[in-house]
Amino acid sequence: MIEKSKQLFERAQQSIPGGVNSPVRAFKSVGGTPLFIKRAKGAYLYDADDNQYIDYIASWGPMILGHAYEPVVKAIQERAAFSTSYGAPTELEVETAELIKSMVPNVDLIRMVSSGTEACMSALRLARGYTGRNKFIKFVGCYHGHADAFLVKAGSGMATFNIQTVPGVTSGVSNDTLTCAYNDLDAVKQLARQYKGEIAAIITEPIVGNMGCILPAPGFLEGLRTICDEEGIVFIFDEVMTGFRLGAGGAQEKLRINADLVTYGKVIGGGMPVGAFGGKKEIMQHIAPLGSVYQAGTLSGNPIAMIAGYTLLNELKNNPTIYEELETKTKYLGEGIEQVLQKHSVKYRINRFGSMISVHFADHDIVDFDSASKANIALFNKLFHHLLDRGIYLPPSAYESWFLNNALSYADLDKTIAAFDSFDQY
Ligand SMILES: *Cc1c(COP(=O)(O)O)cnc(C)c1O
Repeated sequence: MIEKSKQLFERAQQSIPGGVNSPVRAFKSVGGTPLFIKRAKGAYLYDADDNQYIDYIASWGPMILGHAYEPVVKAIQERAAFSTSYGAPTELEVETAELIKSMVPNVDLIRMVSSGTEACMSALRLARGYTGRNKFIKFVGCYHGHADAFLVKAGSGMATFNIQTVPGVTSGVSNDTLTCAYNDLDAVKQLARQYKGEIAAIITEPIVGNMGCILPAPGFLEGLRTICDEEGIVFIFDEVMTGFRLGAGGAQEKLRINADLVTYGKVIGGGMPVGAFGGKKEIMQHIAPLGSVYQAGTLSGNPIAMIAGYTLLNELKNNPTIYEELETKTKYLGEGIEQVLQKHSVKYRINRFGSMISVHFADHDIVDFDSASKANIALFNKLFHHLLDRGIYLPPSAYESWFLNNALSYADLDKTIAAFDSFDQY
């Protein structure tokens, strides 16, 4: 029974476009009514009708240790009493920057912003300002937030709604956005030759989370690194999803590849609106007020957001076994689902890295956007509702990775695997 969610969705649509403040929440691709969430604790969401769900979204990443994680809640409560914003620097921002630098490689300087979108937008501007070049390469299906330049073949959200080009983004802007298929190194080499001396940056999700979970082919990221070195191109890792999720040092550390600039979001804010971009001093010193690439934010480094992020990151830094636990749980879930799908003789691919996983109904490997979109999306959508009816909340789109949180118990995972087994429409 989801009567209250249905009523709220009706009401929401009178005042909010589509009833939601971010499109993927609308359940448009899977159909049905989006659930309105009242509260959450640990691995569970509770909707407006008090139904309980095992959460595989984790607020799209941030809730890596589960919802309402006590140290974070307590820190926010204590800090709120000191006022929620000053518009002036604080010691807490210095401590947060130092903590991040102690966790991630290749960051000399880091600037805090309020979303992943802002982080990527600012990193691109910086790369352009630093190189004096306009064009950049992104990969089809990768999402880097909703700044104009990135809204070209931009993955999950747009794919879910079958949006190809975005009204409101001028051709002047999108002409500087060059795209290649993910994992297609030859196509990148070709573009680098064709636009020699014009390319400011290559931006990529090191492990993709926005067309399902997609892994870089062996040598792909290394190849990009080499091209960037040879051509004076700034290599940007968009770690908004992977940062502090794959490990304390993110994908750079896990994959042992150095980026020139890195963007963060999601986990970095502990569930508050935070993003960040950072990198080597040589590049970062071009940002205002040190340099002339302008970037600013009234609520950047907000104390409530910083204390939430600081507290969560500190937990992650001091308990590195969390990442092993998460990976073991994700492996357990993946292998359990695999056994079930084999039993039902359905064609599938499961992509998995760390605590990110996605299941695709396909008889071909899922290595890029094209192969992801050729999977059986209709089947995923049916399965989504089967699981939801049994109290299991997957991302409402076949183009999304699932994000495990460490509050999940093995009983939760078993319940999920059993729900895959009880589906009879494979
Ligand atoms: C979510 C996401 C963004 C955008 O972050 P917002 O905080 O939603 O603006 C950018 N890049 C990647 C890889 C993401 O997953």
